Amino acid sequence: MKLIIGGVRGTSTVAQASFLKYGGETTSLLIEGRDGARIILDAGTGIQPLGDRLAADPADRRVLLLMTHYHLDHVVGLPSLGLIYDPAWHIRIAAPAHGEFDVGATMSRLMDKPFWPLQVSDLLARIQFDSLTCCPSPSVLRWGGFEVRCCPLHHPGGCTAYRIDEPATGASLVVATDVEWGESSPEERAALRSLCTTPRPASLLLMDAQYEPEEYEAHRGWGHSTWKEALEFADAVGAAQVRMIHHDPRKNDDALDRVNAKVVALNPAAALARAGEEFDLG
Ligand SMILES: [Zn+2]
Ligand SMILES: [Zn+2]
Repeated sequence: MKLIIGGVRGTSTVAQASFLKYGGETTSLLIEGRDGARIILDAGTGIQPLGDRLAADPADRRVLLLMTHYHLDHVVGLPSLGLIYDPAWHIRIAAPAHGEFDVGATMSRLMDKPFWPLQVSDLLARIQFDSLTCCPSPSVLRWGGFEVRCCPLHHPGGCTAYRIDEPATGASLVVATDVEWGESSPEERAALRSLCTTPRPASLLLMDAQYEPEEYEAHRGWGHSTWKEALEFADAVGAAQVRMIHHDPRKNDDALDRVNAKVVALNPAAALARAGEEFDLG
């Protein structure tokens, strides 16, 4: 299993030169299986380089797109993704419903008039929408050699954490973006712990760490965690590696370098994630 980071910036895209070490594109991750299966997680602006990578490889024109939730920073890259206009592609878009918002209706709304010149019904790729079940016990979605499980997260309007396992290699990845650990209920905490440890501790955990501990009180209720909470959580669930994601759009590379130094000093297997980074998980 390989992970390629298209973008991990939180909230909004930034493009100034002083932000580009960690990257300015918002959340989108590509997971490639040993058998060639591909999953994209979220469709922030970071989906553009990932879409180019898929388009350049004609071997398999199918991709599973998992959505954590529908806040704009996680969906805004979809309307300009070239693959959705290519009739050779089959794109399966899956997520649990958040309240009354199911994945098909919400993604169609994103491209509805007057926000975009073409609607979902105009797309040339074969688009399939799937509603997932995350709780009380997650169902398993199989995609190629991958197994996908999910659980709900504490975030305004709801959010979903995903675990992707590749049984053939034993590799596993958990993505928990847009989660406020400090306001999570005991049930929400238990569900994420279980996702990270069942059937075994994750090879890599990516977790929301938008704030410094001293910034949190001023942002309580905004839906995000601190790097200290992410480190403590990774330690508690025995994740082999951990990367902090959803970087604050007000923090440039110098500011994130200072946070990264504190993180690495406490856990050498942890760091702030950077756009363009690739991980070979086995
Ligand atoms: Zn976000
Ligand atoms: Zn959000």
